[in-house]
This record gives sequence, C-alpha cells and structure tokens, in this order.
Amino acid sequence: MLQLKHIRKAYTMASFTQVALDDVSVSFRDSEFAAILGPSGSGKTTMLNILGGLDHADSGDIVINGVSTKDYGDKDWDAYRNHRIGFIFQSYNLIPHQSVLSNVELALTLAGLSVAERRDRALDALARVGLSEHADKRPNQLSGGQMQRVAIARALVNDPDIVLADEPTGALDTDTGIQVMDLLAEIARDRLVVMVTHNPELAEEYATRIIRLRDGRIVDDTNPIAQDEAEGVTSLAPDRSDATRHASMSFLTALALSFNNLMTKKGRTFMTAFAGSIGIIGIAAILALANGVNNYIASVEEETLSQYPLQILSSGFDMTSLLARNVEQEEKSEEEKKQEQEARQKYLEESKNKVRVSRLLTTMFSRIGTNDLASLKTYLDSGEAGIDNDVRAIEYSYNVEPQVFLSDTSNGVKQVNPDTTFKAFGLGAGSSNSLMSMAYSSDVFFRLPKDENLYINQYEMVAGHWPEN
Ligand code: ADP
Ligand code: MG
Repeated sequence: MLQLKHIRKAYTMASFTQVALDDVSVSFRDSEFAAILGPSGSGKTTMLNILGGLDHADSGDIVINGVSTKDYGDKDWDAYRNHRIGFIFQSYNLIPHQSVLSNVELALTLAGLSVAERRDRALDALARVGLSEHADKRPNQLSGGQMQRVAIARALVNDPDIVLADEPTGALDTDTGIQVMDLLAEIARDRLVVMVTHNPELAEEYATRIIRLRDGRIVDDTNPIAQDEAEGVTSLAPDRSDATRHASMSFLTALALSFNNLMTKKGRTFMTAFAGSIGIIGIAAILALANGVNNYIASVEEETLSQYPLQILSSGFDMTSLLARNVEQEEKSEEEKKQEQEARQKYLEESKNKVRVSRLLTTMFSRIGTNDLASLKTYLDSGEAGIDNDVRAIEYSYNVEPQVFLSDTSNGVKQVNPDTTFKAFGLGAGSSNSLMSMAYSSDVFFRLPKDENLYINQYEMVAGHWPEN
C-alpha cells in the first residue's frame, strides 16, 4: 500500500510562495485505478511526482508498504523509481532518435538484464499494447495514440507495482484516448494505477476511484480506504519489492547508450568537445609556436653556417688574442701599472745612448700561426676525430682557381672565372698580386659541397639543373 501522510509542498519564488500541496493525506490500494481530478494548477502533477519519488515534499511522509521513506537515501529512491514505478507522461517523453523497441528496452537497461532478455521483455510489452509490428519505427513515424502506447509499454516493461500517468490522454483525440484508457484500466486490474486528468467523463467511466484536488487540498474522494481496511491491506499485501534490488547497468550497455547519444547529437557533441578542448588547443598552440620558433632559429643557423662555414687556413692570424692583450693591459691594477711604469723608466735609463728595437711588428707576426693542414686532413680522414656527427660536410680547397671560358667565341675568347670584366676596364691592372685585383677578385666558381642539403634550399633553380658530375 502507498500512503501520503500530511504532505506539504510549496514553491518559493522571488516575490511569493506558491503552495502546491497543502497537508495532503491519502492511501492507495495495491490494485485500483485512481483518477486525480482538478483544475489546472491545483497540484495534481506535484502530487504524482511526489508519489513517484521524482520530487520530494517539504514535510510529511510517504509510506510504502508500511515502511516510512523518511530515511531513504538517493540509492533507495533510485531503486524505488526504477523497479517499482512506471511513468506515463502527457507528452510521451520518448527519445526521438531511438527506435520504438529501444525506447522500451531503455527502461530495462537499469535492471541489469542480458541483451536477449531485454529484447524479449520489450517485445512482450509492445505486444501487450498492440504495437509489435511497429517495433523498428522511430517515434515520429507513429500517431499520438501509438506513441502513448509505446510509453505505456515502457512503463510496463519493468512490471512495476505502481503506474503513474500524468494526463495520458491530454494530447489525444477522443477515440485514441479511449484506447489508452482501456489499456490503463486493464493494467489496473493487478496493480495500482494513479492517473491525473482534467477530463471528468473519462475519469467517471474508467476509474474505480476519483480523488478531487483544489488549491493543493483533497476536496473529495469517492472510495477512501477505511482505517481497518488500511491495516488489513497492509498485512495482506504481497511485498513485491526487494529492498536490496538496486539499479544497475552493464558497462557495455552504458557504453553503447553513450555512444548512440553522442552520434545522434552531433552538433552538441561537437560543441562540447570543442569547448572542452579549448584549453588543450591553447597549450598545443603555445607548444607549436615554440616549436616553430625553434625550427626557424635552427634553419637560420643552418643557412648562416652553410654561407659562412668554419674555415681553417694554412696560416692563421688570431685577431682576437691581439685585441684581448690590449684589454688585459687595461685590466691591470694600479699597482701593476706603477711597477710597469718603473720598469720602463729603468729600461729607458739604462738604454740611454743605445739603439733600441721596437718589437711591435715582431709581436704581431709572432701571432700568425701555421696550421699543418696535411696532418689535419689525414687525422680527419682516419675517422679518429669522430667529427662526422657534428658537421654536415668537410670541404678542402687547394688555392686552385678554376679557369672557365665561354664556349661561344664569336666575340673573342671570354673568361668567366676568374671574371675578366674588370680587367677589360683596366681596373685589375693585370697584376695578380696587386691590391686592386685582390679586391675585385670575382672567383664565383667553386666546388659544391658533398652534402647537397647544404645548398639545395639556399638557391632557387631558375633554369637548367644542378650539376650532376
Ligand atoms: P497541476 O498539475 O494540477 O496543473 P501543478 O502540480 O503542476 O498543477 O502545480 C501546482 C502549483 O504549483 C501551480 O500553481 C504551479 O504554478 C506551481 N508549481 C508547480 N511546479 C512549480 C515549480 N517548479 N516552480 C514553481 N511553481 C511551481
Ligand atoms: Mg499538471
């Protein structure tokens, strides 16, 4: 038996409080067809929702088979809603993108049954409401009456003790409404059906009991339960509930449902995924930027190095050390400078009437070193140096200028390397060791590095092809 005891429910809004249920007490038999009648806003839906555990009262108690629900936790309410109650709504509340069969099966996915079992039971329920042949259609391919029957099948598939219907015929025409009422009346033979309606004729004709609500209060009850009957019913009622039966769903079912949901709401899925990934995109953008800058620096380095390679000449002049020496001089302390000054004074004193030697040039030329390039080459070629990992190419040059001439000699012989253009103007003066010819030396032909990666990207091929031999 289902009992409401002194239920109060009010909705508080900004300016005032709307009392939806005002001290409602009522008991329902385990099997009857109760209709709740009342004008709009009288609290019918609120009462049904509280009966079904969809909403909770401000005060008062729901007693289920003699057990108070005062101590119910969320899990208990879940189990109650999922296993003992079937809901039927005025607007059907079917899931539009799922087939009729799936809609009915959905109510079973929380019962932890196997796929085959679920299918069988859903087909049974559909057969009960006469919709077997429509199992594979979508809800929007059905008429209103058919959709409401699908909703009834969904409510029945769990074999609930209590079926709650909120204006189930509200959106239907009279004929289809009658079909639905017939079905509900039949269902009510072995269970409790509580139906909200504002249609008194339908209620009179089908319901075994009519409860009238007005302004959140029960004003009339055609078949109330007497006190002694209430006690009798309570003890006789077979308890179909199983307190430990909790809602459960297999992992695969949950996965399949989620996936289906994602695929059928692509727009929403995309937006959610996009919003969720803005953070990730941000980080990725920063990383990409950093990576791009690093690559850019690397490529600039590479270009610079292939245009200005490290060179080792047979004789080298260390300009830096010469400069460093002057700096060293400046960094000397007062004390040292003083000492130096004195030493210098002494030297001048001693060398009076003597010929002195300036060592400026000597020091300068002493800084020119000679490199034994032949040995270096042998060393590098031997592979001992292990330098190959650090360089792209090693090139050797031998102070030999390629002598290149134009093959077209109709205008006389023309040398293109070393370029003779300036000689024609008399600028080169023909003397190979004059400063002029050094400055204007236009030796543009040189041997290509072995590693073509060093130059391929640096030049744009305008015509012809790269040298092949
Ligand atoms: P009925 O189903 O009989 O038409 P309801 O139970 O839906 O009536 O509503 C009863 C009263 O409670 C109405 O005055 C309604 O405006 C108010 N009400 C219902 N639900 C809410 C809510 N969520 N917030 C505020 N007021 C509500
Ligand atoms: Mg309502």
